[in-house]
Amino acid sequence: MKKILPISTAGSLPKPSWLAEPEKLWSPWKLQDQALIDGKKDALRVALQEQNLAGVDIVSDGEQTRQHFVTTFIEHLDGVDFEKRKTVKIRDRYDASVPTVVGPISRPHPVFVEDARFLREQTDQPIKWALPGPMTMVDTLYDDHYKNRKTLAWEFAKALNQEAKELEAAGVDIIQFDEPAFNVFFDEVNEWGIACLERAIEGLQCETVVHICYGYGIQANTDWKKTLGSEWRQYEEVFPKLQQSNIDIISLECHNSQVPIELLELIRGKKVMVGAIDVASDTIETAEEVAATLREALKYVDADKLYPCTNCGMAPLSRSVARGKLNALQAGAEIIRKELSS
Ligand SMILES: [Zn+2]
Repeated sequence: MKKILPISTAGSLPKPSWLAEPEKLWSPWKLQDQALIDGKKDALRVALQEQNLAGVDIVSDGEQTRQHFVTTFIEHLDGVDFEKRKTVKIRDRYDASVPTVVGPISRPHPVFVEDARFLREQTDQPIKWALPGPMTMVDTLYDDHYKNRKTLAWEFAKALNQEAKELEAAGVDIIQFDEPAFNVFFDEVNEWGIACLERAIEGLQCETVVHICYGYGIQANTDWKKTLGSEWRQYEEVFPKLQQSNIDIISLECHNSQVPIELLELIRGKKVMVGAIDVASDTIETAEEVAATLREALKYVDADKLYPCTNCGMAPLSRSVARGKLNALQAGAEIIRKELSS
């Protein structure tokens, strides 16, 4: 019998301190050359073991081989100049120095396929692999070539589709696209964002996820959240069209946020990765807190379609906090499993 409420994470886990400086985004590597290649593999093994010990059912690489969830993929594409940098406002929120699109986008070689194959060799559990979404990629660059967000996103979608097909062939069971930009640019999401995502998953047999969140606990996000008022209704703008899309699973932030949980009614029928762990706080949830979030979600998501998850990636947390949160996620899910079976 298939296990009910299989747990997973949004993707990233903290890196060991011998690989990169902990509790930091864009943390530089501490190793070089072959030592770095070996170190990343060892870190991936550790991340997998952490997930196994915590009882995570759908495992990931913990994103141990990437510096950043968007930039690392883009670094491997042709058409982007990382030396030519411009300061732009990311997600309408904070200034960042970003690379420039200087020519046609293409993917000359696979990006994460070797890493995925390595993870596949280490486990028989279902594997989820995260890629950046086309709209979020566009929002993390300065475009001096296409000069059109939709056109650039479409080109990224084609490159992502090539990568996704090879990840699937390498044994990945679920491919996730991270689209925090979907919580900001609603008109564009409905005009072309979801269409680009569907281009990215074209021809895939494996399951697909879109992850939409309110971000890590960095200052710019905390400040932004303060402007959103007592009810965060951003999901309402994009859910109707996502419900109609070919994406199988929607990954959302649901715990400690001001998202009215009844918005989940708008995506009824879809599988939902329900974020029941707050990644913007060091406080470890109790099992009962996790269970309460899942119980609320179950009013709008059928039990066989509910996947307990984290609100977002845990890369910036300390390892002990991340470990505690994974254990809480499992313990909370177990409470609900027992309730459902009695
Ligand atoms: Zn996220």
